[in-house]
Amino acid sequence: MEVHNVEMVMSAVQASQYPDDNLPEIALVGRSNVGKSSLTNTLINRKAFARTSSQPGKTQTLNFYKVENQVFFVDVPGYGYAKVSKSARAKFQVMIGEYLEKRIPLRGVIQLVDARHAPSKEDIEMYQWLTSDDMGGLPVLVVATKADKIARGKYNHAESTIKKDLQFNSEVSDFEMFSSETKYGKDLVWEWIEARMLD
Ligand code: GDP
Repeated sequence: MEVHNVEMVMSAVQASQYPDDNLPEIALVGRSNVGKSSLTNTLINRKAFARTSSQPGKTQTLNFYKVENQVFFVDVPGYGYAKVSKSARAKFQVMIGEYLEKRIPLRGVIQLVDARHAPSKEDIEMYQWLTSDDMGGLPVLVVATKADKIARGKYNHAESTIKKDLQFNSEVSDFEMFSSETKYGKDLVWEWIEARMLD
């Protein structure tokens, strides 16, 4: 998609605050610092629209970005912050669960992991949840970010390590290597999003 127009429409902490435009929604999840803002900015051709995180774990709301008046990107708070209290974490989990498990316009979830490392325990838990029966077959795209930091010849190995650790379920999920530095993978991520918009 050729993007010219993006608006940050709203931040929500509960269902009554979600937009009612009836546009398809694509959620983005991943731990703080994995490259979620950078992926979003790359997809929408902006340098600094989505905030890149100087303070990991600060975003505690669902942020809805309306892209080209056709689709919402929904930035889901990063998981795995050490500094947030247990009760605050429990609150996020309820908020995120309410959105991911119940939101009708939600067509798919992009889960970001770091291409350089094996997925963390929290990455694995998140992926298991996203592909569980609770989600009713919601499509998941696993995006391995910062691919520019590993050699091209190691992409296959990185992909198989990540898939093995996640217990990748290819019935409901796809995989893409990505770099916001080189834009590697950008077109394929957009293709996946556009296909979900038509689902
Ligand atoms: P967020 O917390 O998930 O939104 O992560 P950010 O998008 O703010 O990125 C965290 C850090 O990783 C920043 O310093 C980015 O410049 C860097 N980063 C993000 N994506 C990439 C990438 O594809 N390649 C490289 N080399 N650095 C990246």
